[in-house]
Formats: sequence, C-alpha cells, structure tokens
Amino acid sequence: MPKVLIIGACGQIGSELTFKLKDIHGTENVVASDISYNNLDVVNSGIFEIVDAQDYNSVRTCVEKYNIDTIYLMAAILSATGEKYPMKAWDLNMNSLFHVLNLAKDGFIKHVFWPSSIAVFGPSTPATDTPQHTTMEPTTVYGITKQVGERWCEYYHKKYGVDVRSIRYPGLISWKTLPGGGTTDYAVEIYHDAIKHKKYECFLAQHTELPMMYMDDAINATVNIMQAPSDQIKIRSSYNLAAMSFTPLEISKAIKKHIPDFEITYEPDFRQHIADSWPKSIDDSSARADWSWEHNYDLEKMTSEMISKLREKYATSEKIS
Ligand code: NAD
Repeated sequence: MPKVLIIGACGQIGSELTFKLKDIHGTENVVASDISYNNLDVVNSGIFEIVDAQDYNSVRTCVEKYNIDTIYLMAAILSATGEKYPMKAWDLNMNSLFHVLNLAKDGFIKHVFWPSSIAVFGPSTPATDTPQHTTMEPTTVYGITKQVGERWCEYYHKKYGVDVRSIRYPGLISWKTLPGGGTTDYAVEIYHDAIKHKKYECFLAQHTELPMMYMDDAINATVNIMQAPSDQIKIRSSYNLAAMSFTPLEISKAIKKHIPDFEITYEPDFRQHIADSWPKSIDDSSARADWSWEHNYDLEKMTSEMISKLREKYATSEKIS
C-alpha cells in the first residue's frame, strides 16, 4: 500500500481527494495536512497534521514521521486571489513545488502529483479546442506560476527521473466544498444561490465560455493518472483535461429546467479580464490516448446532481438549526 500525504487537504479539491484516497488505500495509509484546521470533516477523518508547504522542514518532518512515498500537492493561491497578492502567490506556488520535487529527487518520496490549470494559456493561445502543445503566454500571476511549474516538473523528470504527474484542471464544480478564489467560482456559487434565493448576480458576462468539470470526474482523473503504469505517462509537464464548456447563460438555462423562476443578472468585475484570456474549450486527446481518461458528467447531468444534493444539504442544515 502506498503511504500518501495530501498537502492542502482542507481545500476544494484536497478535501474530496482525501476521502477518495482513504477509500482506495485505507484510512491508516493516508495523511491529510494543511496550514490550518479549516475543514473539520477532513481534520476528524483520520490522521491530520499541520504542515506548511512553504517550509521544507515542515514537509520533510511529516514525510519521515509517516514513511510517506507519495505526495499530492494541492496547496496553492488561485487565479483571482493571486491577482490581489502576486508575490504571495508566486512564493507559495513555486516554493511548495520545489520542496516536493526536491524531496523526490533526494529519495525521500517516490511519486508526486501536482495540479496545473487551464490558466497556463493566454490570449495568444488558440481559444477553441486548445491543443496540448501550443503557444502559452499566460497573463495572470497564477498562470505564470503554473506554466513555470510545468517546466520544472518536466525538468525534474528528465534530469533526475522524478515520477511527477500532472493535469491541467479546468474550473471544478462540487456540491460538497466551496471554491477557493478562482475565476470559475461562479459556476459553484450559482447553484447555491439558485437554491437559497432563486437568483444570482454573475461576475462574468453572459457569453463567457470556459472549460469546466464536475469534481467526481476530476478526482477520478487524479486517481487514474497516478495509478497508470509509468510508461503510459508520456507527458511530464501536464496533461490537458476536458469534460464540458459552457457560458453563464447556458448554465442558467440548465438550472431553470429544475428551478423555473431562477433569474441571473450580470455584473462583470476584474475576473472578466482573466476569463477573457483563457481558452473556451480544450483538446484532451493525449490524456484519453495515453492513460484512457474519460469523463462521465456533462452540464445536464452535473446540474441535476448539484441541485438534488444541495437541496438535501440545505434541508438537513435547516432541520439542525
Ligand atoms: P483551495 O484554495 O480550495 O485549497 C488550497 C488549500 O491549501 C487550502 O485548504 C489552504 O488552507 C491550503 N494552504 C494554503 N497555504 C498553505 C501552506 N502554506 N501550506 C499548506 N497548505 C496551505 O484550492 P483548490 O481549488 O483545492 O486547488 C487545489 C490545486 O488545484 C491548486 O494547485 C490549484 O491551483 C489547482 N486547480 C484548481 C482548480 C479549481 O477549479 N479548484 C482548477 C485548476 C487548478
């Protein structure tokens, strides 16, 4: 059984990944960690440690304490927050990656998962069916950290044989956790507001098309790429990954099928500029060919599940209060 450490386990992806990896490897083989106790479900679900991803000794101490062989590095500052705190985003996103890559290079761990993002692309990238290998001139601090991170992952693999694997996640949507400061956060908030208030004010314009994915698909992709035989992982920078693309107007129409009196209004803010620099849709044929990636959720299926799960969640919390 691998001994797994998740860094940033209290976040949107890390929390769901923690529970999935516990199902697969057993609770005793999975160590969840974060800089703070900000998700009590994760903290109370098994072994939990406070680890600062920016502090090499903090990460190494945890690795040695539990004999860790695989790290999933989920700590980062995301696109919208990164524009407010550029140097913090640079420091956290780069230092944490170097610490983990160096632990692998020096033989403390064997395998690394590190997520990249569609934010590696920029306005000069072809926006439709964005190819795996193409022009990449990101205009956000976050995108720059992800692009540079990809180069370092490939470098550590080629130069030192580090088994690092990576996916360029699109915007991720989940009913279980709230997003952490990204440009695609609207696609989660809209479902909550639809159920609570039957209306939503969107911070992107109605025709802004972006690549998106339901969290279950993203977690499956993460597990599958890590379980694939090493020779199937031909790209060691990061794989394009896709499931669906939609605009705020299209998601609002999908919601209206379940909540007919739902209303959306548009008040674009600084995040519009970020969204305008990103692709509308992604060509992920390399991931499908190399390690058999498949998605399960489209906009309709995701919307049905988001609405029924969130209705249950809010009904239960009303009963408790
Ligand atoms: P998130 O902001 O929800 O979670 C990040 C977690 O990292 C938080 O729990 C935070 O407390 C923790 N953290 C912050 N600083 C830390 C530190 N110094 N040490 C340890 N932990 C620290 O982020 P997320 O949405 O779960 O994203 C996880 C990864 O996936 C990131 O690399 C992100 O760039 C990438 N990604 C996310 C999306 C998305 O839609 N959520 C899309 C593309 C890529």
